[in-house]
Amino acid sequence: MTSIQGKKLIIFDLDGTLTPPKQDMEPVTAELLTNLIKNIQVAVISGGNYLRFQNQFLKSLPQGVDGLSNLYLLPTSGTRLLVWQNDWVEKYKEELSEQERKEVKDALTLSIDQSGLEKPTETFGQIIEDRGSQITFSALGQEAPLELKVKWDPTHEKRQKIIDILRPKLPKFDIRIGGTTSIDITRRGMNKAYGIHKLEQYLKISLSDMLFVGDALFYGGNDYPVKATGIDCIEVKGPEETDQLIKSWFA
Ligand SMILES: [Mg+2]
Repeated sequence: MTSIQGKKLIIFDLDGTLTPPKQDMEPVTAELLTNLIKNIQVAVISGGNYLRFQNQFLKSLPQGVDGLSNLYLLPTSGTRLLVWQNDWVEKYKEELSEQERKEVKDALTLSIDQSGLEKPTETFGQIIEDRGSQITFSALGQEAPLELKVKWDPTHEKRQKIIDILRPKLPKFDIRIGGTTSIDITRRGMNKAYGIHKLEQYLKISLSDMLFVGDALFYGGNDYPVKATGIDCIEVKGPEETDQLIKSWFA
């Protein structure tokens, strides 16, 4: 699709779509996006937390950008919604209970053991991160260098193995492959589709007037639940393709 005619809201995934995984948005993408926000409402949805949005995305937008009120942020797979009202204001947040967090962390630790996967020789930062509304497993740690991460599980085989063991242990949760080495776990139904339905209610925009752009729309990917909403989806391989896509809308 090279047209956004008739669309009222464009929703982007963050990692691997607007930015390289866990890296700053490139100036060219920031410029294209700034231009887009002036013309149409834009939402960004990610498995990452709000801090990541600030560091990886918001700080790359030009200072004093006009029309931030056209931008909506949905961190941690849409379990939170932030809107711009002279500052970022939270509209909802879906937290896991203490009991749920413990259940997930215990099952995850056990499943990793049972998978028989070789333990990485070196890790960087937290392996299991508690994001409040989401628990995230990062095989090499949250701070691992990208060049190591891209080599760890390019075919998703390792994570799928863990997920196959984990799923029966956590029937009340959604489990998805995210980022380059990570698995995201949220309460059942708390995924990007949930965030999109929240946007539908909050903005009163119908699903047919939305367009989603993401890099993980394949089965098991963290953008896959979006497909179930029935909104138009475009799959990109990375930020360069996203840049080209946005350019094509203005051509
Ligand atoms: Mg992605």
